[in-house]
Amino acid sequence: MFEALREQNVAYFSMEIGLNDDIHTYSGGLGVLAGDTVRSSADLKIPLVAVTLVSKRGYFKQEITDDGNQIEHSDEWEPSNFMKLLPVEVMVKIQNRDVKVKAWLYEVKSITGGMTPVLFLDTDLEGNAQEDREITFFLYGGDEEYRLKQELVLGIGGVRMLDALGTKIRRYHLNEGHSSFLALELLRRHNMDVNWVRNMCIFTTHTPIEAGHDKFPYELVEEVMGQFIPLETLKKLGGHDRLNMTRLALNLSEYVNGVAKRHRDSSRAMFPGYAIHAITNGIHSYTWTCESFRKLYDKYLLGWANEPELLVRVDAIPNEEVWQAHREAKIGLINHVNNTTNADMDYDTLTIGFARRATGYKRANLIFSDLEKLRKINRKGKMQIVFAGKAHPKDGTGKEMMREVSSCIKQLRGEIQMVYMEDYGMDLAAKMISGVDLWLNTPQSPLEASGTSGMKAVHNGVVNFSVLDGWWVEGWIEGVTGWAIGPHPNEVVTNEERKARELDDLYNKLEYVIVPLFYQRRDRWIESMKNSIGKLAHYFNSHRMMLRYVIEAYL
Ligand SMILES: *Cc1c(COP(=O)(O)O)cnc(C)c1O
Repeated sequence: MFEALREQNVAYFSMEIGLNDDIHTYSGGLGVLAGDTVRSSADLKIPLVAVTLVSKRGYFKQEITDDGNQIEHSDEWEPSNFMKLLPVEVMVKIQNRDVKVKAWLYEVKSITGGMTPVLFLDTDLEGNAQEDREITFFLYGGDEEYRLKQELVLGIGGVRMLDALGTKIRRYHLNEGHSSFLALELLRRHNMDVNWVRNMCIFTTHTPIEAGHDKFPYELVEEVMGQFIPLETLKKLGGHDRLNMTRLALNLSEYVNGVAKRHRDSSRAMFPGYAIHAITNGIHSYTWTCESFRKLYDKYLLGWANEPELLVRVDAIPNEEVWQAHREAKIGLINHVNNTTNADMDYDTLTIGFARRATGYKRANLIFSDLEKLRKINRKGKMQIVFAGKAHPKDGTGKEMMREVSSCIKQLRGEIQMVYMEDYGMDLAAKMISGVDLWLNTPQSPLEASGTSGMKAVHNGVVNFSVLDGWWVEGWIEGVTGWAIGPHPNEVVTNEERKARELDDLYNKLEYVIVPLFYQRRDRWIESMKNSIGKLAHYFNSHRMMLRYVIEAYL
């Protein structure tokens, strides 16, 4: 009956998924990665079906006041405008109520003829209690109990839905631990045969710190899900004091991976005893390449979109045309910034971009550690900076950081043009990662599991200047593909030393290397743009990533 689903045999579960700006079912990197996974699967005709929640009220729409205060607005969207409702319902028991779950089908189509179905689970059904209808309203909203119910709908409801639709799934891919309950559902169906379930499951962890993993008190688990499986068994699989969703996934998945080599290493240290692999993230090349570079690649590297390896041949493109393509993207961004804010940016100034989730460890404010130094650099060669990013509604530190950035932007007004753009999402990301000259990333190491925005930048010849964490440890060649901020992870340094060296690099490399190169050695600058494309974009894409998942995990 469901033609689109007949051939699919890998199920990819993700709490969030970013398909486009109008479907508000993502909050950041994890969701955009899931979207890129789906897009590459469609291009490559991988028989994958994705499962997520419909999050009908979205994550939130961000407004920023003059003082840098974030105001959160509901970000509702209408599924029926984009997808069709499937005539199938399944049940999940929650607090001893039978909660009905339906699914919307969205088809991600590729020009290669491939198509990847995405199922959006929805509990907003007549007959469900009001509180149950709201389970799939808010992405990352509500309290612990709300999150637990969402994860039950995703994991258990998802498996049941796939089954009801007649799919024959042979691999379940858990994109982060939110969907670990799916493994419990499989366990129950197969006589509690742990080995059988392990053979079916693949787990990708994204969180490099212990505190970042979902954990639920067992009293709450019992109250909400009842005796789904015997408590003793659950504790053996998910941890003794609290139900740790990551532990559950680790114990019930044969293939486990981190999202960059360094992240694999930190995951191994955090979870000794598990065989943890590395598949470094990638981004969907076509989606994240701006119009002018798409045209340029079409002219010189035909077929690049479905075979991004071809980008290794970037030297076939003349320097002037690379610069021209970049200039077009830059004009697009600067016009957008000037039209939507009171910033007065220009096309010729070295433009730095910083956009990511506003949260403590990302340190958007690091560049403002020494305003005098920043002023001095700016006197030697002008800079302008575009910021963006949302703070989770409950992230006080992230919000404080936004206020600090806003205040520094004000203090330097008239000297360095800077702006904090509202409501960071996929469209704004696409403009920023292609329209700036330099992509800045200053996370506190080792907290950036991978990072993907820098990979988007390199597809557009935008050069990275970043702390050596996540993917950048693998991408960085000093002075060739960009520049490092602070010590290499293999160096043993104290925290104070690390911070001091980060600030030294940040200011000194800007002043003595980056600014002079940009203004005085344009030919060399364009070389580093080409190196970003030829040495990085050809590798850090989701086609390569998905082929690795197929070979190492799905087959
Ligand atoms: C790519 C992307 C991210 C992730 O960027 P990081 O570098 O991993 O922080 C977050 N949000 C949006 C909207 C994106 O497009």
